[in-house]
Amino acid sequence: MTAQTEKAVHRCECDICQVGTDLETVRHHEQMNLFLSRLNEPQRRWYVGLLSQKAGSPSDRQLSLITGLDEVTIRRGRRELEAELADVPSDRQRREGGGRPSAEKRPRARDGSARHRCLSHGRRPDGRRKVAQLSLAGC
Ligand SMILES: [Zn+2]
Repeated sequence: MTAQTEKAVHRCECDICQVGTDLETVRHHEQMNLFLSRLNEPQRRWYVGLLSQKAGSPSDRQLSLITGLDEVTIRRGRRELEAELADVPSDRQRREGGGRPSAEKRPRARDGSARHRCLSHGRRPDGRRKVAQLSLAGC
């Protein structure tokens, strides 16, 4: 057994690899799948989505055979890239369940009253507290 294969590497099912004569392509597809096996789900579809945009790149159907990703998934990756990944913040990539619900809770500010009051600076401090006021650094 090999050490820790987290996910099985997809075996390319494209015609070239089935025939197996074009060793360079076979190797390239193997490496692509090896690389993809180390990425998480969104990263995989973005990578393949990116590949699909290159001039002379295989069709989505071909890419689907090569990578094992759905054509729909590839299109989605491409769309997300086109949208500059706006819907997918970089700090949390898993939006579609699977993970635990976020335990992060933010204490709600009590109706804004506890908020920092820069506004009080609108009032003039009385003369003798001028210096102290400056050193408050609160704002
Ligand atoms: Zn192949």
